Amino acid sequence: MPTAVLPLGVVRPDLPAVAEPDASASGLEDGHGRTARDLRVSLTDRCNLRCSYCMPAEGLPWLPGRTILTDDEVGVLVRVAVEQLGVRKLRFTGGEPLLRPGLARIIAAAASLRTDEGRVPELSLTTNGVGLDRRIESLAAAGLQRVNISLDSLDRERYAALARRDRLDDVLRGLAAADAAGLRPVKVNTVVMRGVNEGDVVPLLDFCVRRGYQLRFIEQMPLGPKHGWDRSQMVPAAEILALLGTAFALAPAPGRGSAPAEEWLVAASGDRPAGRVGVIASVTAPFCAACDRTRLTADGQVRNCLFAHSETDLRTPLRDGASDEDLAALWRGAHRAKAAGHGIGSEGFHQPERGMSSIGG
Ligand code: SAM
Ligand code: SF4
Repeated sequence: MPTAVLPLGVVRPDLPAVAEPDASASGLEDGHGRTARDLRVSLTDRCNLRCSYCMPAEGLPWLPGRTILTDDEVGVLVRVAVEQLGVRKLRFTGGEPLLRPGLARIIAAAASLRTDEGRVPELSLTTNGVGLDRRIESLAAAGLQRVNISLDSLDRERYAALARRDRLDDVLRGLAAADAAGLRPVKVNTVVMRGVNEGDVVPLLDFCVRRGYQLRFIEQMPLGPKHGWDRSQMVPAAEILALLGTAFALAPAPGRGSAPAEEWLVAASGDRPAGRVGVIASVTAPFCAACDRTRLTADGQVRNCLFAHSETDLRTPLRDGASDEDLAALWRGAHRAKAAGHGIGSEGFHQPERGMSSIGG
């Protein structure tokens, strides 16, 4: 039987209003009791697709090449994050991170670091999957542990319309290659858009469950082309779950921590095995109170939130010879000012200047 869906706009009662303070005083603590352990590193703002919720068809004015951190500069800032600031998870993203020629080198440098717990940091990649089949062996050998691959439709024409490029077959090859390379569970990200791909929700979950991939549906956020987001066009988590409930028996998965995905167990049925699915309700049930993220853009700016309106420049001090300790102090200061929440829906909310592809999703 399908389970009841979450009511729209209800803040999850199982999340603390303020996260427990962390014991380490030298990490990335903010003024609301949260500690960042998860760094999103954008390696480029460029992309070979043009997903309609992310970029305009004509692309964006790209960041000037001289402002983009070199592989070594990325290595320094990642080292500062892990060794000085207590970061334990690193996710490389973009734009499209596979467009970065030095990706394997950057991953290998990150894999040589040790966290404050003496472990290799968790190393993952968010990618559109195009060309991943040709790179996956070298990325895995460099130390990549996980991939999230974006896939918004299994229908070739709809995929091509949505991504404005006919690359579905490339993405499916990338998915299969990640699985074959043992980067399991392969995670799939789907943004659901009203009147566009709601009909893909059930086939996508069936496809993923049968292959052991973990699918996560994402509510569309106001981070794409300017004025392109409209709350009424966003398909809320509750509606996504209702759509899934027509074809799958779902039960809430136990435990959540700071993970943004609300996880559900999918019961086995007929020849379809059991699986899991996530629904990231960033807009209707924000998880800001438990957010443990910090972000570094491809041009060396620290952002303490996707929706922040200010950034802290680390590229200039880095190029001027700042020490790891100096860079860590700047980063700590930037993080302390992190807002309590993103404020989507509140009066006065306005979209940040940078879009998702430039911040790093
Ligand atoms: N190019 C890679 C990819 O597509 O996976 C990495 C960068 S992309 C910006 C990272 C993630 O952000 C993708 O899963 C994408 O679907 C998601 N995304 C982009 N724009 C979004 C928006 N406006 N709302 C919600 N998610 C968005
Ligand atoms: Fe490119 Fe990813 Fe944005 Fe799509 S979501 S345009 S693949 S950066």
